[in-house]
Amino acid sequence: MSETIFTKIINKDIPADILYEDALSLAFKDINPQAPVHFLVIPKKPIATINDIAEEDREIVGHLSYVAAKVAAELGVAEQGYRTVMNCNEFGGQTVYHIHLHVLAGRLMGWPPY
Ligand code: 5GP
Repeated sequence: MSETIFTKIINKDIPADILYEDALSLAFKDINPQAPVHFLVIPKKPIATINDIAEEDREIVGHLSYVAAKVAAELGVAEQGYRTVMNCNEFGGQTVYHIHLHVLAGRLMGWPPY
């Protein structure tokens, strides 16, 4: 797949407000926050969309939720609650083709999303 802006963030070629990093993943604040707390959790492995998750990626993808909860707890929003979202392709609203888990918190979320 072609390189996205998130590869540049992983490689520290462009800055980001990084909240957590380990061998498999990176969490950083969204540049255009849609809630008082809005960060993204991404795998270091570039996977374009949810549709491209291979069998061997299952542990990595599960790890993203683990990191989301860990960072939410560190930011003090876990008990109040938060929304995680992974958009897929055009109708899902995906704009960056490197999978990422959005974590939104700090306000009451509506349902259903539009
Ligand atoms: P998507 O629309 O693909 O689900 O979400 C992409 C997200 O990445 C958007 O919320 C957007 O604000 C965020 N984003 C795009 N470019 C950058 C960037 O360069 N830095 C950061 N921190 N976030 C970005």
